Amino acid sequence: MKISSLYETLSDGIILLNKEGRVTYANTRVCHMLSLEKKAIAGILVSDFEKKLPKEFRIFMKIFAKCCKEKAIVKDQIVLGNTPSQPQMEIFAIWNKGVIIVLQDKSSYFQHMEMGKDFIANASHEFRTPITIIRGFAETLNDLPNLSKKMIQEITDKIVKTCDRLNKLVKNILVLSDIENLFSSEFQKCDLSVVIAHCKELFSSLHKNATLHVDCDNASIIGDSDLLELALMNLLDNAAKYSQDAPLVTIQLKRKSKEVILTVSDKGIGIPELDIHHVFERFYTVDKARSRKHGGAGLGLSIVKTIVEKHGGEIKVASVLGAGSTFTLSFQSQELDTVTEN
Ligand code: ADP
Repeated sequence: MKISSLYETLSDGIILLNKEGRVTYANTRVCHMLSLEKKAIAGILVSDFEKKLPKEFRIFMKIFAKCCKEKAIVKDQIVLGNTPSQPQMEIFAIWNKGVIIVLQDKSSYFQHMEMGKDFIANASHEFRTPITIIRGFAETLNDLPNLSKKMIQEITDKIVKTCDRLNKLVKNILVLSDIENLFSSEFQKCDLSVVIAHCKELFSSLHKNATLHVDCDNASIIGDSDLLELALMNLLDNAAKYSQDAPLVTIQLKRKSKEVILTVSDKGIGIPELDIHHVFERFYTVDKARSRKHGGAGLGLSIVKTIVEKHGGEIKVASVLGAGSTFTLSFQSQELDTVTEN
């Protein structure tokens, strides 16, 4: 196998320069990263090559010269945009009777790091509140030993409820991380009408005052039925949580040619227009007090979205304030005969 065929399979950009600094090879990836045509750089000197690049990329001459002098691996960074604290590309020059330049795109890595930092900040904030509450109650019990039995009962009840909330938060965070690390290759055929039937049973036992209508076609998708159940239960729980007294909820499952459409609608309080684009973000809540009352921390819908996307699907929401909300999930249909072929 030619070494250039190997370079073509890499996700890093590769440029080979001979001792004189002439480009002898550039893989497709590097041309894409630098927005250059392959034939425009073939055989040209590194100095001319650099002239074709925007200012922030003009580092190749420097790194080539240093590598030739030191005959060792030289590393540098390319900072793009106005975020100097975050280099988005890393560049390596490796001496090999000429110079091999390796260009690594680190943008998604840094975005990931930033998202991780945000997540930890939000999660810590959510943990702090229940911990403060539990501590406050424990201090009250300690400072006031002569409290009535009734008061002690009330306080311990509140401690238990707050612990349950903490537990739910930990569970949700673990679920999110588990789903993200899940391999969809382990998915199997799932009959969505069975998933819906399970959820209906569970929902009716949890929300005795609610009415749930189900209108179901037969439809299967490739997926994980436990996760799909978790997603649907989150939507159903929200439909009940964000409704007045007697929640009225409808599930519809329809097959439209190659698509399966699952909708969950309620006649509840609805979502304000300003919030609707944010409800799938982690830790986003419209009314913090109302969410907390039900033990929520704004993770439910982000779990649903992550599950849907793991299944190659899409989720949308439409809502009218004071009139209700509809969540629409679309997946690729998987018919029985297609499954047996696979
Ligand atoms: P939580 O319910 O824990 O606050 P979610 O991620 O499940 O978190 O939902 C995010 C926000 O979206 C909620 O705070 C709520 O305001 C809004 N929301 C979700 N589902 C509904 C619904 N069916 N009706 C009205 N608002 C909803």
